[in-house]
Amino acid sequence: MQRIGCKELDRSKRSLYLLLFTLTLALAVIGYRATTSINDVGEDGIVLTGDTAEKSGFAMGTYYKLQLTGEHSRKAVAACIAELERLDALLDRFDPRSEVSKLNARAGQGWVEVSPDIISILETTLDVAIKSRGAYDPSIAALVDLWGFREQRGKIPDHAPPSPQQIQQVLRENVGYQKVQMDAVNNRVSLAAGIVLDFGSAAKGYALDRLTALAKSFEVEHGLIDLGGNIGVIGVRQDGKPWNIAVRHPRELGEVFGVIPVKDQYLATSGDYQRYFTWDGRRYPHIIDPHTGYPTTDYASVTIVAPTGILSDVLSTALFVLGPERGADLLTHYPGVEALYIDQNMQVTITPGLKDVVQLVQ
Ligand code: ADP
Ligand code: MG
Repeated sequence: MQRIGCKELDRSKRSLYLLLFTLTLALAVIGYRATTSINDVGEDGIVLTGDTAEKSGFAMGTYYKLQLTGEHSRKAVAACIAELERLDALLDRFDPRSEVSKLNARAGQGWVEVSPDIISILETTLDVAIKSRGAYDPSIAALVDLWGFREQRGKIPDHAPPSPQQIQQVLRENVGYQKVQMDAVNNRVSLAAGIVLDFGSAAKGYALDRLTALAKSFEVEHGLIDLGGNIGVIGVRQDGKPWNIAVRHPRELGEVFGVIPVKDQYLATSGDYQRYFTWDGRRYPHIIDPHTGYPTTDYASVTIVAPTGILSDVLSTALFVLGPERGADLLTHYPGVEALYIDQNMQVTITPGLKDVVQLVQ
C-alpha cells in the first residue's frame, strides 16, 4: 500500500482546493451567464426568452413541450404543467391510484361518482363510438391488454397473437360501449361487469383542450403545445404566419412526409409505427377494430386537424380503423375536421378542406 507523506497530503489537499475553487468559479460564470443572457432558466425549469416561456418534460407516457408567448407566459406554463400532472394522475389506467382505475375496479357495482373531466371525455368518446358504429370504442382496454399493447411506445417485444377463441371471449365479455352508462347531470358513471375504460386515445387530446384554455386565461396570444405528437396551437406564430406542423414519414421516422399549416387548431396522428409488434413477418399495430378484434393494418398513419384537441385525438384513432370512405361519413358529423391518410404503399388520401393546404415533401 502506498503511504502518503504529510507534505504530499498537503499538496493533494491544495490541488483538491484548487479544483473546487475552479469548479465554483466555473459554476458562478455559468450561473451569471444564464441569468444575464436572453435565456433565463428558472428553478422550475421554465426557459424564458423575451416574453416566450418554454418547458419540456415527460407526462402521460410521452414527451411534451410547451412554448407560450405573452406577458404572463411563465405563469401560464407553470399552470399548464400543474394541470397536465393533475390530468395524468387522474386518467392513467396503469396507475391503480388513478380515478379511471378506481372506476374500472368498480365495474358491475352500479353508479360511481366521477370528476367532470371523465364526464367530458366520455361525452366525446361515446358520441364517436355511436356515430362510428363501434369502430371507435372507449371500452377497448381488455382487448388492448390481451394483444399485449401495454404502456410502452415504439416496438414491443415480439410475441404470438392471442387465439381467436381468446379474442372472441374478451369481445363478448369485456368490450362494448353500450355497457357504459353516463349521467352527466349528476357526474356519475356505471360500467357493466367486466368493462374496462381506456382513454389512451383521448386523454392527450383532452389535456390539450384544457391546457390551451388555461394558457388563454393567462392572455397567451401565440403558443404551441406538443404532447407526444398531439399538437395544439394558440393563434398564429409571433411573425403572423401559421404554425407549420410536420407529419412524420411512417416508414422513415426521422423524415418529414408533409407539412400542415394550422392556426388555433389541433392536430393528432395515429400511426402503425407508434406501438406495434411483429410476428411471422406481420406487423400488429396498437389500434384494434372492435368488430373483428384484430389490429387494423390498411393504413400506416392518419393525421387529423380539428377544432378541439379531443376530437383530433379520438378521430385519428377512429379513422385509422374506418379508412377514407367510411371515415368521410363519420366526418359529416364533425364540421371543421380534416384528415390525411397514408396507406401501406405510402399513397395519400386528403379530405377536400385540407387538399390545397398540405405541402407534401415526399
Ligand atoms: P397514441 O396514443 O399512441 O398516440 P392513439 O391516439 O391512436 O395513439 O391511441 C391509440 C390507443 O387507443 C391504443 O393504444 C389503445 O389504448 C386505444 N385503442 C385502440 N384501438 C381503439 C379503438 N378501436 N377505439 C378506441 N380506442 C382504441
Ligand atoms: Mg390519438
